[in-house]
Amino acid sequence: MSYQPIKHVLTAAEISQTVTVRGWVRTKRESKNAIFIALNDGSTIHTIQAVAQPGQFAEDLLKLVTTGSCVAATGTLVESQGAGQKVEIQLSDLHVYGTADPDKYPLQPKKHSLEFLREIAHLRPRTNTFSAVLRIRHALAYAVHKYFNDNGFYYLHTPIITASDAEGAGEMFRVTTLDMTNPPRNEEGAIDYKQDFFGRETNLTVSGQLEGELGALALGKIYTFGPTFRAENSNTTRHLAEFWMIEPEMAFYELEDNMNLAEDFVKNVIGYALEHCADDLAFLENRLKEEEKTKKKEEQSELSLLEKLRFVVDNNFERLTYTEAIDILLQSKPHKKGQFQYDVKWGIDLQSEHERYLVEKHFKKPVILTNYPREIKAFYMKLDEDGKTVRAMDVLFPGIGEIIGGSQREDDYEKLLMRVKEVGIEPESLWWYLETRQFGTAPHAGFGLGFERLVLFVTGMGNIRDVIPFPRTPKSADF
Ligand code: ATP
Ligand code: MN
Repeated sequence: MSYQPIKHVLTAAEISQTVTVRGWVRTKRESKNAIFIALNDGSTIHTIQAVAQPGQFAEDLLKLVTTGSCVAATGTLVESQGAGQKVEIQLSDLHVYGTADPDKYPLQPKKHSLEFLREIAHLRPRTNTFSAVLRIRHALAYAVHKYFNDNGFYYLHTPIITASDAEGAGEMFRVTTLDMTNPPRNEEGAIDYKQDFFGRETNLTVSGQLEGELGALALGKIYTFGPTFRAENSNTTRHLAEFWMIEPEMAFYELEDNMNLAEDFVKNVIGYALEHCADDLAFLENRLKEEEKTKKKEEQSELSLLEKLRFVVDNNFERLTYTEAIDILLQSKPHKKGQFQYDVKWGIDLQSEHERYLVEKHFKKPVILTNYPREIKAFYMKLDEDGKTVRAMDVLFPGIGEIIGGSQREDDYEKLLMRVKEVGIEPESLWWYLETRQFGTAPHAGFGLGFERLVLFVTGMGNIRDVIPFPRTPKSADF
């Protein structure tokens, strides 16, 4: 007997055929005339109903079929009399792979809070919400690779263990094999990393960009898509300690080209999800509608999830400079009424409340901000002519804030060296990076998209911990 995914049986299998499906029991209902078992195997958000006659199977076997148990169900596919499904399986054979003691199985068929589900991350993929999120996450990852492949980019694998701190932010996880209870010391009494595995201090990468640039200056257009680690103690709904970042890097691209690519790329992958994840998005849209009802009227979103996604795909992103954005914020009601927590003036690093005002209240669409003050941006961004701002671009999304950070890179050796020193990085530690500006330098640009922030936006989930299978956050690395 060959098994079929439930998705296939529900949509494509022929009536009166004998089918076998395997999956986990969502519910079992018994009435006078029949026993109904709803099964899900993860291939689709939908369950298939398997129907048995009373007395058809031994009580001892039926007792084992409870919510969470795993079974194989064989029977004839028939048109369903009941509401909610077109077809169902008239059972002829039932096999139980694994039971789930109803007194102990935590995922009972009722509404569980997302907070509770985080505590059982090993089981939450069996819920409708998480299976939908994970299938969409998969589709988006595929769309990312497809987009770049279709557009002449090469997938470059940049290292995960690194000796450089790309952002200069110092929020890195150390990688070491030294005995931390008794580490070797040098003459100054400090830990002697010369004796460590790599003969130097190493960390988990915060970004693949610097190595990505090396690739772009040889292959033309590359992208990375890999895990990224930040030991920042940001307990927000938008930060993880381990997240996946997509970083394209392109030779001969200037800031404008970079913006065009970012916009086209994001629209394209969201469009892919709209086209290929209709069932899961419809489920999440309803979930969100229910959630919205519990909110105050003025906090309710005007657009449904699908409307929001289509809006992003169909409309141009608003483009303006940081300086123009500051002017808008200075003229804004919340600024004048003192409602922003952080003060607004030229030179500040925009806070999430400022970004969200621009996107959600002022423009009501995604925004690309450019030409930030050099003091608040990384050393590798290309200086503007005035020397005060750099060719940075941040893409800001409704409900999320920054989803992409990028820039045209400084391609002038002297200027780059000056900036490296200015921010206090030892030029020797970046000799290989600096050399690319001495040997055949070229204008180039790139950006980083936090994959989970994209998944957050597309799924309409509220917390980044709920769009990655096993979140890593301060004080939390179970599972
Ligand atoms: P933020 O200001 O939101 O912390 P950032 O300026 O530190 O972001 P970048 O260093 O520019 O972010 O990284 C590029 C992208 O990576 C961001 O636009 C965002 O989408 C994502 N990102 C950054 N930090 C995190 C994190 N801790 N968890 C998840 N995604 C992140
Ligand atoms: Mn950050």
